[in-house]
Order: sequence, then structure tokens, then C-alpha cells
Amino acid sequence: MSVKKYAVIGHPIGHTMSPFIHQRLFSLAGLDAEYVKLDIAPEQLGEAFKTTLSQLDGFNVTIPHKQAVIPLLDELDDKAKLYGSVNTVLRQDGKTKGFTTDPDGFIRAVEAAGIELGGRIMILGCGGAARAIAFELASRGLPFEFAVRERSCGKAGLLCLDITRRIPEAKVSFGLINQIIGTVDVLINATPVGMYPNVDEQPIHNCAIGRCAAVFDVIYNPLETALVKRARANGAKAEGGMSMLVWQAAVAQQHWNDVSFDPEDIRRLCIDAAEEMKSI
Ligand code: NAP
Repeated sequence: MSVKKYAVIGHPIGHTMSPFIHQRLFSLAGLDAEYVKLDIAPEQLGEAFKTTLSQLDGFNVTIPHKQAVIPLLDELDDKAKLYGSVNTVLRQDGKTKGFTTDPDGFIRAVEAAGIELGGRIMILGCGGAARAIAFELASRGLPFEFAVRERSCGKAGLLCLDITRRIPEAKVSFGLINQIIGTVDVLINATPVGMYPNVDEQPIHNCAIGRCAAVFDVIYNPLETALVKRARANGAKAEGGMSMLVWQAAVAQQHWNDVSFDPEDIRRLCIDAAEEMKSI
């Protein structure tokens, strides 16, 4: 059988953990496949789609192409259509189909961490990661609120409108990140605050963290952010974003090759990916 070919496309693509994670998943699945990273500027996407990308069996899509790739595809999975975002493309029998695996990656990671999604759920930020998580919560009938800085209120309002337009029964609101009052059952950090190299930063103050029963931080570098450390020190359940990153890749491989993975293998891969991250 010929070696299957895959890639991740983005711009700038820089350091990415995707080749390491996908190669390990191919090994776990017993598949012979190549996975490379391709830096494709926004103005080159259309041409690359017809040339370089047409030679691949599938590819992952990252910033800034997650929406731009949609009109180029033959078909969209229901979730990608509803959420308006694609991070995984399958090419089969000459046709392309787009999927979004970040939401499933988030759910698998939260479940693996033993965090129960319910009660008062708050998402910090309203960018790409927040959007994927928000749509998944809304489609599961879970109410939630965004907490954003003042300058993002317009953007947060538009995202709330987009969610309720696509999922009319959704219960979603937004408030200011520096004015969080009361207790929170599940806090989800979807801002880059605390990401390497600014590892001492926290998106919210200690007193607000102290009122959170569980925390999920989408940041995967470092493995344990200042927010996660603080929450754990308070006795809260808290998990970082590495397992979301690995699970969304595992779900992409399910779409590409109909393979599934043992959660214990994924847990071990998260540890190895964290080690690998130190060297890049
Ligand atoms: P993004 O689209 O740029 O969104 C970032 C959001 O954070 C925006 O709403 C931004 O608000 C807000 N923000 C930035 N700085 C802030 C601050 N100082 N205080 C409050 N809010 C702030 O980025 P993204 O793609 O969502 O990525 C966010 C983080 O998630 C990154 O660290 C990324 O590596 C991580 N991520 C992880 C996974 C995973 O699988 N684990 C997947 C995707 C992303 P403004 O509009 O005001 O700037």
C-alpha cells in the first residue's frame, strides 16, 4: 500500500506540535503515513488547494484558514457546517470533506480530567478556541457566559448572536472579565494569557480563581499554567490544554482513516508531547 500523505496548513505556521502528535497516532494505528507542515499565506490558499493540497489524503487547518477553506470544499460535516469552522479536511475519491475536531477534543479532554460540565460555566475570551467550545456547549443545551475585556464586548456580542442564530435554544451571555462576581462551577480559559513565555500571567485575579470549582485551560504550553497551578492549590479540579490538542488530532485521524485510540495511549502521548514541546 502507498504511504498516505497529510499536512497541517497555517500562516505563520512556526513551531507546531501537530507533526509529532500525528506521527505518533499513525504509529499507534499501525498506519504508514507522512505528515508535514505547510506555510500557506491567505492569498495563496486557493492556488495551493488546487496544487499542493490536492496531492494529500487529508490535512489539518489552523489560523488563519479555518473559515476561508470552507467555500473550497465539496462537502461539510454537520458540525463543521453548524459551527462555521473547519480544522480537518479529508480527500476521498477526488472529493473533499471538512470537519471540526476542536469541540470533540475539548469534550474528550474535559471528560478525561473528570470535570463535569454543568452549573455555571464561564468561558474567558471570545476568539477561535472560545468559539469552538461555545458552539459545543450550546449544542449540548448547556448555558454559559463569556467573560471578555471591555474592548472585546462588540465581538462577544456578535458571537452570542451568531450562536443563537444557528442554535436558537442556546442560553448565552457575556460580561466583563475584570468584574466576575459569585461562584463558577466550570471556568474555561480560552485566552492566551499565561502562555509561554508569559508563564506567570493569569487571566483573572486570585480571588476570582478561588471561587471556581473546576478549571480547564486550553493553553498547552506550559503544561501547567499559573491558572491551573493556582486552581489546584485551591483544591479545585484543573486541567491544561495538552489533552485537548492530542484528542482533537485523534478525532481527525478517526475521520481520515476510521481508526480509534485507547484513552491510556492518548494519556501517554500527552506526557510525551509535553516532553517534546520542551525541545522545540
Ligand atoms: P484568538 O482567536 O486570538 O482569541 C484570543 C481571545 O483571548 C480573544 O478573545 C482575546 O480578546 C482574548 N485575550 C487576549 N489577551 C487577553 C487578555 N490579556 N485579557 C483578556 N482576554 C484576552 O486565539 P485562539 O486561537 O482562541 O487561542 C487562544 C489560546 O488557546 C492560545 O493559547 C492557543 O494556543 C490555545 N488553543 C489551544 C487549543 C488546544 O487544542 N488545546 C486549541 C486552540 C487554541 P481580544 O479580542 O480583546 O484580543
